[in-house]
Amino acid sequence: MNIEYKTFKNKEVTVTYDPRKCELSGTCSKELSDVFSDSIIPWVNLENTETEKIIKQIKKCPSGALKFRLREKATY
Ligand code: SF4
Repeated sequence: MNIEYKTFKNKEVTVTYDPRKCELSGTCSKELSDVFSDSIIPWVNLENTETEKIIKQIKKCPSGALKFRLREKATY
């Protein structure tokens, strides 16, 4: 399956996913499956949990494929 670079947003954060960097380790989908799915494309649903949890999970991405930018003045 050819997955393109994607951008996802909720009110607080913008999340980007770069498939060229993804190691397909599944860390994100195993640890926070409400947000990151390995079976549904697009597979990042930012409406399913708090932004703080999403950011914590993105920081664990080993490859840097997932990145985030805060959209409002929030600190995590
Ligand atoms: S944690 Fe990062 S490297 Fe692992 S599957 Fe998710 S996006 Fe890819």
